[in-house]
Amino acid sequence: MTTYLLKPGELTLKSGNRQDFESVLRRNLAAMLRGTGAMLSMTQGRFYVRCAPENETGTEDVLRRLFGISGWAKTRVCEKQMDSIIDACIEEAAILFKKGIKTFKINARRTDKSFPADSYKISCTAGDAICGRIAGLAVDVKKPQGTISVEIREKAYIYADAREGLRGLPCGTAGRGMLLLSGGIDSPVAGFMMASRGMRLDAVYFHAWPFTPDEAKSKTIKLAEIIGSYSMGIRLSIINFTPVQNRIKERAPQSWRTVLLRMAMMDCAGILAQQRGDKCLISGESLSQVASQTIENITCTQSRVSLPVMRPLIGMDKEQIIRMAEKIGTYNTSILPYPDCCILFSPPHPVIRGNIAEAQQYYDSLEADELILTALREAETVKAGFPAQ
Ligand code: ATP
Ligand code: MG
Repeated sequence: MTTYLLKPGELTLKSGNRQDFESVLRRNLAAMLRGTGAMLSMTQGRFYVRCAPENETGTEDVLRRLFGISGWAKTRVCEKQMDSIIDACIEEAAILFKKGIKTFKINARRTDKSFPADSYKISCTAGDAICGRIAGLAVDVKKPQGTISVEIREKAYIYADAREGLRGLPCGTAGRGMLLLSGGIDSPVAGFMMASRGMRLDAVYFHAWPFTPDEAKSKTIKLAEIIGSYSMGIRLSIINFTPVQNRIKERAPQSWRTVLLRMAMMDCAGILAQQRGDKCLISGESLSQVASQTIENITCTQSRVSLPVMRPLIGMDKEQIIRMAEKIGTYNTSILPYPDCCILFSPPHPVIRGNIAEAQQYYDSLEADELILTALREAETVKAGFPAQ
């Protein structure tokens, strides 16, 4: 059996409601592990996941997608006896050495204070034993190339391959938000970031059928699946906005098209969010990245919604967003070259610093309420990225 030890993240800071956070983490992990063949247990505030060696890949894939843990490691488990602990340390050290590592330190922690040796003693004894057995490996406590951790709890846990967790808070501890998900690079990252703060996600995608191809829609569903695999699933509403776009074309000056379309999207997303019980809208806007994202135009865009609009990327530049998209696995899908509804419709000279009073006036002149409600009624809903039942 393979054992993984998980380290809780920020939830250790929550004193009063720590248990609530832990129980959500437990529920999420149990759901994500379903079908992988792995088993979850919790002892003295620590989560452990056990699986057969052939199920390691699937299990690790889950641990890499779990919000609420600061780290995890595949660990050896042995009795709390110095001999067994030293043997396990030597085995881990031999693996490090084979990987080309020349210096190491032992990082010992004794949660069980009845264990006779303190952490300093454990580190010294194990360190000496390793150096005695593996010529070529030396201790370096300041800048070691490898670290072997020893944790004395109800058993002894020994591991050298500690991995970073996603951190953040367990999904479902911060209510639910409605993500405006385009097929682009930014909005999937925005959804990921809100999910990392514990928010569950619904999403809405506006397409311009039949002007945007079906591939654009499939691409957005794929993005929802990827983000959903971190956020315990996404309910994605797909809304045909062609009638609204046509109305904008008919009634508004060309330069205002993009801002008015964004206003209508926010308006529609706000109604849907309220129907679904979502507490905020989430967009992938980044200040001044494009003409529609100047502070003046953002003010126009959000002026029709009463819910707060979260913009987790507002202070990030495109490079940073792209790096993050690559890390979370959405980038390659986002760059597939299918036109989205805005490209088909953007004016050559858009308004850059829209005046809010003018925006309101143009928006009212669209008389778009009925069109928006009809579009909402005809929405298609797709469930993406939910854990297996
Ligand atoms: P993205 O990479 O997320 O598409 P972007 O840099 O292309 O963002 P815009 O096209 O101005 O920026 O869109 C700003 C935000 O508005 C997007 O991040 C997204 O949240 C929302 N949005 C834009 N188009 C759509 C759409 N077709 N459906 C749903 N939301 C959209
Ligand atoms: Mg876009």
